[in-house]
Amino acid sequence: MSMPLNQLLYDRLKAVFGHVNIVNAGQTNIVEKTIYYDRQRKLRHGVGIRPGLSGEEYAVNCPFCPDTGKHLYLNYRWGTYPQGSRFPNLHPAHCFRNNCIDSFEKCKQLFAMVFPDSAIARQVKLPAIPPKQADAPPPPKPELPPDCVLVEQLPLEHPACRYLASRGFDPHAIAKGRELRYCEFREHGIIVPRIVIPCFKLVPHPEHMYSQATKELAGWQARLIGPPPYEDAPKYRFPKGMEKSRLLYGAEKAIHTTGPVVLVEGTVDVWKVGDHGMALLGKTLSSNQYDRLLRAFSSRPVLVMLDNDAADAAKKIVSSIIVGRHILDDSAPVLSVSPPPGRKDPGEASSAELRTIITEAMRKYEAGE
Ligand SMILES: [Zn+2]
Repeated sequence: MSMPLNQLLYDRLKAVFGHVNIVNAGQTNIVEKTIYYDRQRKLRHGVGIRPGLSGEEYAVNCPFCPDTGKHLYLNYRWGTYPQGSRFPNLHPAHCFRNNCIDSFEKCKQLFAMVFPDSAIARQVKLPAIPPKQADAPPPPKPELPPDCVLVEQLPLEHPACRYLASRGFDPHAIAKGRELRYCEFREHGIIVPRIVIPCFKLVPHPEHMYSQATKELAGWQARLIGPPPYEDAPKYRFPKGMEKSRLLYGAEKAIHTTGPVVLVEGTVDVWKVGDHGMALLGKTLSSNQYDRLLRAFSSRPVLVMLDNDAADAAKKIVSSIIVGRHILDDSAPVLSVSPPPGRKDPGEASSAELRTIITEAMRKYEAGE
């Protein structure tokens, strides 16, 4: 291993946090940065507002959250004194798990941990650190509901196939591609027909990481077909304890494609987009999904296409991905696109309409429009 660019910081991080990963080793380039302080010394995210620093980063377990995956990134210039300044440069540090370093106070606390003999350390009160989670027994592996039938084996007149056809799909083709099941749930003593949509998570290969990732069942979504059979019947059911925010639905297919990936809200939206689509299963990008997206889909264009009523949420997601990509020196584009005119979400559109929108957005970006 070559020498770290900032041996002093590296040694201190090793002493305090145990193990340090070096990212972008040896890189000293300076790019436009997207994290800065405003006049009230509040940490802000923005694009190209103030030139900052990038290059070599040191990744450690974040001390402010129960991180065990080295999500806290410190730039090699973190903690150094800019010319003419009596205060160290503390902004190029970011927790990708939980955005823990979100105030000037937190920046100083981190500095006090790394340099406990410094003057700043004497002024700062260290917070009570949440205990790292002890090795809890792994949760039971999720299973599909019992008595499921593969939809691809059902006749086209079956309500499950008819539902898929009504949404504009070739029922057997989409059922095969997405491993859809049909299941009759018993809810309040009534038999309720639902399509069970398996949700997989990406499992990185121990050596080749995401280039040879495999999939593992992480839960499912069971969508009601037909009219609600009782009052307040939920449109979707999930297995108990399923953490939707830890999943990017469709990632196991998108990882094996090339070109742009398209982030949408729901499963049907993904089916319409095709293998490049991934669903947030909501309107927000959780820190877990964010982390997965930055690592597994690095250097690929990301298009965010949420429902028509979620333009603000889409903008927020776009800017947070841009911030993360800047820190990781990933300059691939991140764009917000709307569903086709007259469609309230991608699921209402046809696959051809969506392809046109995606191609056009990429063409405009490449032409600098
Ligand atoms: Zn953290």
